[in-house]
Amino acid sequence: MTTSRSTAEWQALDAAHFLHPFTDFQSLAARGSRVITKADGIWLTDSDGQRILDAMSGLWCVNVGYGQQALVDAATQQLRELPFYNAFFQTATPPAIELAALLAEVTPPQFRHVFFAGSGSEGNDTVVRMVRRYWDLMGQPQRQVIISRVNAYHGSTMAGASLGGMSGMHAQGGLPIPGIVHIQQPYWHEHGRHLSKDEFGFVAARWLEDKILEVGPDKVAAFIGEPVQGAGGVIVPPATYWPEIQRICDRHGILLVSDEVITGFGRTGHWFGCETQGFRPDLMTFAKGVTSGYLPLGGVMVGERVARVLIEHGGEFNHGYTYSGHPVACAVALANIRLIQSLGLVEHVRDDVGPYLAERFEALRGHPLVGDVDTCGMMAALLLVKDKTDGTPFTPDLGLGMVCRGHCFREGLIMRAVGDRMIVAPPLVMTRADVDHMMDLIHRCLDLTLADARAHGWLA
Ligand SMILES: *Cc1c(COP(=O)(O)O)cnc(C)c1O
Repeated sequence: MTTSRSTAEWQALDAAHFLHPFTDFQSLAARGSRVITKADGIWLTDSDGQRILDAMSGLWCVNVGYGQQALVDAATQQLRELPFYNAFFQTATPPAIELAALLAEVTPPQFRHVFFAGSGSEGNDTVVRMVRRYWDLMGQPQRQVIISRVNAYHGSTMAGASLGGMSGMHAQGGLPIPGIVHIQQPYWHEHGRHLSKDEFGFVAARWLEDKILEVGPDKVAAFIGEPVQGAGGVIVPPATYWPEIQRICDRHGILLVSDEVITGFGRTGHWFGCETQGFRPDLMTFAKGVTSGYLPLGGVMVGERVARVLIEHGGEFNHGYTYSGHPVACAVALANIRLIQSLGLVEHVRDDVGPYLAERFEALRGHPLVGDVDTCGMMAALLLVKDKTDGTPFTPDLGLGMVCRGHCFREGLIMRAVGDRMIVAPPLVMTRADVDHMMDLIHRCLDLTLADARAHGWLA
């Protein structure tokens, strides 16, 4: 185990050696990081002993909450029995085989095969190579282009960040890589306020068709999207959007890829977000919730349309990772999925705590700062606006979202700010009483933020 140190000692050692992901290294060194030392249920504890309600499930992944003994036992037993063996060269391990079969059971019926990776980013790299390989084998090698969306998040490897539509990421490292293009996101507030949400859903889906026609339908390999954009700010598309996307992909024979890294394993009230949003993908990326984050694991569910071609005509697929099908990660995933089943968590989200979260968020519309709310299962967002009557936003450089996030931090609530969208994605095991507790904290932080905005004269 690690040595016990004071917070100041941890921070000094951290700043001296640890380059954190998505972090301004200098400002972290100046302010010091918050060191999380333990967790139980939905609560974190930091090195000062403060308890913090984790409304982000770690990083969208701890679906079953912290401290689940079944997952600890599964890992411990597998570590003793067989800590590692690979799945290259015609070998396999029991947990990887069992998990592949269980995934085929809980995913939609078109999925019977899985390709394992170590993370969501690696899963999406696999998607890029696999869809291009599929079209080669289909005798259409000119189908190379993958269409994605602005403000999508698909990971941070070269292909993952290229598929993603984050301009700040593209600006570093010469991205996107060739053959990846983007259309606008289905964000009603920015692009559709003059339309009803349903009308806007059709309009936003037609941007895909426009892009297909611009690129040339015979050159497009696939379209990829998150059923509900997570890191982009919990952007829930209108109900008309995904079914129309499906029709457009079908019309042009284009593969449809659902990035379920956040929306998988019960987050939206169905096993997968595509079921909630009403579409039928050919490929599905997963990670995060597959192990509830207890160990790293990701992969791609491969629908029969693609799997049959790869299996029957593909020969060797020259792709894979040392940790594809890691036995300990797979053992934890098995325990995690069985726990989701035995606790009935998908139904809990769909019928009980998800609707309750939606009801409590809807009520936030009464708050002077809240211009809109969006929810889907255990994902929710509220938008801070300057003028509720017409939805006028605050000037971005005020950074009101970050002001609000600062209050959350001090009040013991992990809530994320994406611009002026304040978002949560709490553990699925939350009870209604837990939601009440979280909402009390959210109210308090909104009131503190309102007081700041008034003091600075930022309100309309
Ligand atoms: C987190 C995330 C990824 C990347 O997963 P990593 O495990 O961080 O590589 C990909 N897609 C979506 C939708 C995500 O939220």
